[in-house]
This record gives sequence, C-alpha cells and structure tokens, in this order.
Amino acid sequence: MGNECVFCGEKAGSREHVFPKWLRKEAPKDFVDADGSRGIVSDGKLVTVPERFATAQVKCVCGTCNNGWMSRLESGVKPFLLDLMRGDPLTLGRQEQTLLATWPLKTVMMLQKASNRDYPDQIPQVDHAHLYRHGKLSMRRMVARAFHVIPPGDDHSHTWGDLEVRDIRGRHHGYLAKIRTGAFAVQIVSAKLPPHHEIARFGLMATAIPLWPARERFDWPAPAPLPHEQWTRLSLQRLPYKKRSA
Ligand SMILES: [Zn+2]
Repeated sequence: MGNECVFCGEKAGSREHVFPKWLRKEAPKDFVDADGSRGIVSDGKLVTVPERFATAQVKCVCGTCNNGWMSRLESGVKPFLLDLMRGDPLTLGRQEQTLLATWPLKTVMMLQKASNRDYPDQIPQVDHAHLYRHGKLSMRRMVARAFHVIPPGDDHSHTWGDLEVRDIRGRHHGYLAKIRTGAFAVQIVSAKLPPHHEIARFGLMATAIPLWPARERFDWPAPAPLPHEQWTRLSLQRLPYKKRSA
C-alpha cells in the first residue's frame, strides 16, 4: 500500500480513527468495556480479530485531512449520531442530512482500508476525490437510504458495525456499501454511469428513509424496523438510472 493520502495525495501517516473517539466515550459503559471483535478479509478468508469498540485506526490519510475536514465532519454529526444509533426519534433538516449521508461514506472508506486486505481499492479513487473536493456525496451518481435495524443479541456480544462493499450484480457497474452502527444502518449506492445519466432516487418505504440526496426533512426512525436478517441479505438486483433532464 502506498503512503499517499487517499483523499488529497499528500503524504499519509496520520492515524485516523475508523470510528470516532468520542463515540467510545459516549457509548454505554457495558458495551465499551466488553471484548469486541472485527472481521478482516485477508487471502480470501474472513479472520476475526479481537478489538474493542471504536479503537481501530488506519494510516491512509494525511494530518491536514484528518484534523481538517474529516474532524469537522465528525463534530458535525456528533449532536445526533448517538441518538440515531440508539434508535431515539428525531427530525433532521437538509444540512444535517448532508452530513449524515457523508459520514457513513467516509467511515466505509476507512473501514474498507482497515478491513479488506484483498480489495483495499474496491471503492474507486474517483469517489475519494469527489468526497475530498465537494465534502459530500455525488448528486448524480450516488444515493443513500437509512434503516432502523435492531441490533441482534445483547450489547455485550454483538458487533456494532457491519460493513459490506461489493460490486453490483457481480460486475463493476458501481458498488453497494452497507454499514450499521447500533440501530442506524445505511445503504449507499455509487454508480458508474454513462455521461448525461443520473441514478434513480430511493423512495419512501415503511422500513427505509431516503437519506441522499437530502430532502426537506428526515424523520427518524422509519415507521417499521428492518429485521437484522433482512438487513444482512439486503442487496441490489438492478441499478436504475435514467437520462438527465436538461
Ligand atoms: Zn489528505
């Protein structure tokens, strides 16, 4: 792996927390003190390593990114992220939704670098560059929705984060990233589209709330929780997109 910042290309070496340090301070004590684990894909095998909650770090970003925009993004979601993770009701406006959609993508990018040694570059560089340049997801190529998933098991034994990044329909039309932290689960789709086309947006469902592009308001949680087994099976059969209206 090179030692360039995955976002800006400057020299990397700054230690970035995959999940922010404040999350560890704010999470329930029983949970923080419990022995946790994290899965790492290496040589085609999933290896589970012992790791306490929110202690993982990666060294693929530079100090300027880490202490600058990445840190601002973490402080931006801090006022409501923990409520979402606990499943507590709340309403967010457009600006907060933008932060809330950006945070999981940034976190997925870091988790991917930390957890998949076989495919550390499954998320293309163009998406890292977009996030760095614009500070949010692409309006044309990306969509995201949020699910309220009741975590399985008790807080001592379950893993608080699920991550899955894979190519859509086994071909590189784009990728699907899923991340769950506590009860807050997000599915992000990033498409590789022909010019002048745009990805179709997610609609409102009983179990899912559209998160990106941001709408007038985001009312959390969705009317019905999504069972954890359904969350783990959630995939994308096709990638709907259409010609952009002029
Ligand atoms: Zn950087």
